[in-house]
Amino acid sequence: MATRLFVDGQWTEAGGGALPTHDPATGQVIEEVGTASQADVDAAVAAARRALSVPEWAGLLPVERAALLFRLARLVDEHHEELALLETRDQGQPIGVSRQVSVTGAAEHLRYFAGWVTKLQGTTNPVSFPDTLHYTRREPVGVNALITPWNFPLMILTWKLAPALATGNTVVIKPSEVTPLTSIRLVELAQEAGFPAGVVNLVTGDGSVGAMLSAHPDVDHVSYTGSTAVGKLITAAGAASNLKRLTLELGGKAPSIIAADADIDAAVAGNLAGATLNTGQVCAACTRFYVDRKREQEFVEKMARGLDSLRLGPGSDEATQLGPLVSQKHREYVDSLVTTGEDEGAELVTGGRPVDGDGFFYAPTLFAGVTDGMAIMREEIFGPVLAVTSYDDEDEVLSRANDTEYGLAATVWTHDIRTAQRYADGIRAGAVFVNMPPIPDMAAPWGGYKASGWGREMGPWALDAYTEIKSVWMHYGY
Ligand code: NAD
Repeated sequence: MATRLFVDGQWTEAGGGALPTHDPATGQVIEEVGTASQADVDAAVAAARRALSVPEWAGLLPVERAALLFRLARLVDEHHEELALLETRDQGQPIGVSRQVSVTGAAEHLRYFAGWVTKLQGTTNPVSFPDTLHYTRREPVGVNALITPWNFPLMILTWKLAPALATGNTVVIKPSEVTPLTSIRLVELAQEAGFPAGVVNLVTGDGSVGAMLSAHPDVDHVSYTGSTAVGKLITAAGAASNLKRLTLELGGKAPSIIAADADIDAAVAGNLAGATLNTGQVCAACTRFYVDRKREQEFVEKMARGLDSLRLGPGSDEATQLGPLVSQKHREYVDSLVTTGEDEGAELVTGGRPVDGDGFFYAPTLFAGVTDGMAIMREEIFGPVLAVTSYDDEDEVLSRANDTEYGLAATVWTHDIRTAQRYADGIRAGAVFVNMPPIPDMAAPWGGYKASGWGREMGPWALDAYTEIKSVWMHYGY
């Protein structure tokens, strides 16, 4: 029997059929997952709308709402290993990544935003009106659709769920059809934690279910993480329906600049981690390497050795460093871009092919001698494929690094504080990391410039995405 939807506090059968989800390490079907119909989506949105004003939710004291989020975080801790194994099975990531990044990250996000519930303040403001008190208060935006991708399904869901609930909203979750299992499990834990019926709803299915939510006239806000192409469709649907608020965390093509004075061993180690974490299926993964011409050969040789030494295998094997890609379809996409790179004349230094066997493995791949116009330098590949080019001066490399439709993250490797600051100033991206790989933290803002998105998640910035600021004017001079 297919997995169920969660609507208004009940697990209900999906009205739109079912889709299989696969183990990327073996290609085997793990489970059939229910697909929501339009009627299911309407019911979930209606339940979320009703729950916004029930006393069991709207009437909770801040300490009580915080306690629910702390309880959910504790349940994630208590089910840590179970969730990690499930994430590895459905998504393919090495078990160490599932444990330390996905599950620990999810619990930490829930706890961090639980702490915010009792600190949501307004301001009093010196308006130039006589006998008038002016203050602001934060109110929930309302019904939020949380649409998530397949690369870090559990953790990215908590990036949205935690601030949404902390600020008193209700949600309809739509996980990726490729990796829905840990999201379903998290919703079960939210039910166990005691969130009132209708506060957390779940509809599973493919992009058509996401499209129903983004076009829905009674959804107030879509918080979406995924590809830029779908982000544009969601924007159009939101505008055509009720001009809903959007938070968009989209694609990336992060540059990494390695200066002449950089510690090349540290740059290779950091970039190896940053570019191959989760088999390169990371929005902030560095895939464009601009290396000072004097250090290019050394960097390419050491990076190739590093990639060749990575241990490929199923995520469930504790020794695995590089797991499979998430699906056969995605592996075909990665391979097609690698073929384009070869056709366009880039030098293939290592890798460049799928690995034989049942799972969706791909050999870590390094191209050298890449030029800026090549597809592998411009398109988001979302796989373990690295492209190296060289540069001669700082002005030149800054404009080349910025010559992209994306602007999510960048890294810079140098010991010279002037060079580091110059790039930190000049790079048009939401985050610049100096001498470290691009890794988010819940206390720092996360989001993109340009086609990498709108708005910021994490930290106090996430609270803005999930609240309306109400301006209250109180005249007392009558
Ligand atoms: P995707 O765009 O294919 O799918 C993401 C989600 O959108 C899924 O749940 C999918 O079912 C849904 N969807 C598909 N079509 C839709 C439509 N027309 N309307 C509404 N929803 C629809 O993305 P993906 O392939 O799952 O994820 C990879 C992408 O996510 C990459 O581009 C990556 O850079 C991006 N990403 C960005 C961040 C970030 O923080 N900026 C983080 C992780 C991933």
